[in-house]
This record gives sequence, C-alpha cells and structure tokens, in this order.
Amino acid sequence: MVEVRLEGVTKRFGEVTAVEGASFSVGEGGFLTLVGPSGCGKTTILRLIAGFDRPDEGEILFDGRSVLQEPPEARRVGMVFQNYALFPHMTVAGNIAYGLRSWRGQERQQRRVKELLELVGLEGLEHRSPGELSAGQRQRAALARALAPEPRLLLLDEPLSALDAKLRERLRLEIRRLQRQLGITTIYVTHDQEEALAISDLVAVMNSGRIEQVGSPKEVYHRPATEFVASFIGRGNLLEGKVSSVNGERVELWLIPSGPKISVRVAAGTVQSGQEVKLLIRPERIRLDGSLENKLRGRLKGIEFLGDSSWAYLDLGGQELRVKLEEAPGPAEGQEVVELSFASSDCYLILPRGAGSAPERGG
Ligand code: ATP
Repeated sequence: MVEVRLEGVTKRFGEVTAVEGASFSVGEGGFLTLVGPSGCGKTTILRLIAGFDRPDEGEILFDGRSVLQEPPEARRVGMVFQNYALFPHMTVAGNIAYGLRSWRGQERQQRRVKELLELVGLEGLEHRSPGELSAGQRQRAALARALAPEPRLLLLDEPLSALDAKLRERLRLEIRRLQRQLGITTIYVTHDQEEALAISDLVAVMNSGRIEQVGSPKEVYHRPATEFVASFIGRGNLLEGKVSSVNGERVELWLIPSGPKISVRVAAGTVQSGQEVKLLIRPERIRLDGSLENKLRGRLKGIEFLGDSSWAYLDLGGQELRVKLEEAPGPAEGQEVVELSFASSDCYLILPRGAGSAPERGG
C-alpha cells in the first residue's frame, strides 16, 4: 500500500481555478475523505491523483516519489464512481475480470474473480448483467472490479450518492470494513458531511477549490479552523458576538447587545476587547433550563419532532439558535420565552481572520 501526498496542487480549466494550492497527506492504509459543496474541486483532485489530468502547479507523491510523469496505469489506482460505470453488456464476472486482462493464466484470473465475489458478497450473481442487479449490488460489483487488480490506492467518487438513505448507511459500513480488512489506502469523495465523519480517519474540508482544514472527524467537528468548516460540518449554531472584556484566558462577550454576558475560555492573547467574533455552540450542548454557567433567554419560534429527538428553534436577539432536545419534554406548547444555558467549555470562538481559538476543555 502507498502513502499519498499532495503539495500545493493547483488545477485551472481556462478561467476557472478548480483546485488551488491543495496540500494533504494520507498514510499507508489510511482513509481520507474530501468533503465540500458541489463544484468545490473534489472530483478534480481525484482525477489528478489517478493521473487523468495533470496539475498546473504542485506535486503529487506516492511514497515520497513524484508520480506526475507516470501514466494512470503505472500508478496502480482503483477507482469507483457514483454511476457504477460497469459495462452493461458484460456479466458481473466479466466486469470484475476486465481489469485482470494482463494477468497470465485463465485459472488465476478466475480464482481472483471468485475471491472478489466472496469479498463483496456477490457469490451466485456472477452470471447476471449489471441491469439484473439492485443498485446496491451494482455498487458492490463496481467495488469488486476496482479492487480486482490489487491496486495500491483506492479512489471512491461519491460511490453511494445514487442509493437510498438506508442502503447508504449499510454500504458505508461495508466499505469501511473492507478497507480495513485489505489495509488499502483510500481517498473518498462526498458532499455529505455526516458520511465523511462516519467513514474516515481524516477529513479534508473543501470550499471553492481550497482545502480549509484537514483533521480527524472529531477535530473538524469540535475545533473547526474556519467559519466555513464550522457551518458545513454538523449543525452548529454560529452566532455573532462582541468581546466585552478579556482577562487572561477568560473572555466575556455579548451575543445580545446589552444582554447577559457569555463567558468563554480561549488561548491567552488571541482576542481583544471590542472585537467581533463568531461563537460556535453545538445544538446538543444547549439545555433549555438554567442549569449551566452561561444563561440567556430566547423566544421560542417552533419545534420540529424528528422521532428520536426534536429541534427547538429560538430567536436570540435577532439570531437563530437551534437546540437539540433528546429526551427532555421540552417547552410547553404556546410558551414564548424560554430559559437556556450552556457551559463555557462547549463554546468555541472563531475569529474573523479564520483562526479558531480553542476553549480550555472543562473550564
Ligand atoms: P460535485 O460534487 O458537483 O461533483 P466537485 O466538488 O467534484 O463537484 P469538480 O467536479 O472538481 O467539483 O469541479 C470543480 C470546478 O471545476 C467546477 O467549477 C467545475 O465546473 C470545473 N471543472 C471541472 N472539470 C472541468 C473541465 N474539464 N473543464 C472546465 N471546467 C471544469
């Protein structure tokens, strides 16, 4: 398996800069996901790594060696696309064997096809054509075809986006299990942030051709580097605030002008009095009572019932706040003003220039 590294990779298509200065690395056997909105450059990065396109600037290295002069075949990369890209006139077995044409000995090829059918759970369906398979089975066949020639890197481009929600969840578990079992270095593309958090060792969050942050799922969720990451990953409340006073690591700020102050801890020297900041608070960390350190009052705008939980929407001096209610009965029907509270340690400040400032946990 291979370690893959991108260094300052830029790709332009005429006037459009599809990818700008992208750098990241994924270790041997690692699983990195590129996540971001449509058109942010995710597929372009996969195509550059596969060798279908060449970057205008930067380097792509496999195990520390540039592969820019190597054609796609030499890079030994397996790829799975959103739309399966199976040959419709070939059987499942024929599709899987397609990448094994260069393997000598028919018996060896057949053995490998059988291995792959078992690996992805398609035994008994080898004589069907792709049109005779369910969507999930087709995607398994595509995965088997990509893995058959023993690639050292697997690239997956939105492989689950054509499937329904339940099947997506099942297949993403299967992909992860297979990836671990084979120990194959994998780069995965999705626009679905939940899928990215669920499946990856590392998440690279992209916005308009740039990589905004690379980190573990927990890092990008709890310690977003930029406002974009904070709003794209998870359902965070990103509230505007103004710093009222700074005392070492302890910062007080207003979310509601002349309302009660909020207390947050940050690394010393990162904010100044009077500064405008953004405050990230996750909906599951807010309580609709006065039991935690920072207490405010909000106007209840509505409640959405979701089965296992509910969303309460509050108005906080003109800013919308989303609160996740798990088991608590929640506010009474018709109640207008509600008390809410949250801990300082669950607040995360994002400064305008994009540098996140971590609160001291447990402070
Ligand atoms: P999606 O999630 O919609 O697939 P993406 O994040 O994969 O999007 P890319 O397909 O990488 O985005 O495209 C990035 C940008 O580059 C887009 O603005 C796209 O229109 C442009 N682009 C991609 N390929 C080409 C091309 N061959 N010629 C011109 N522009 C291109």
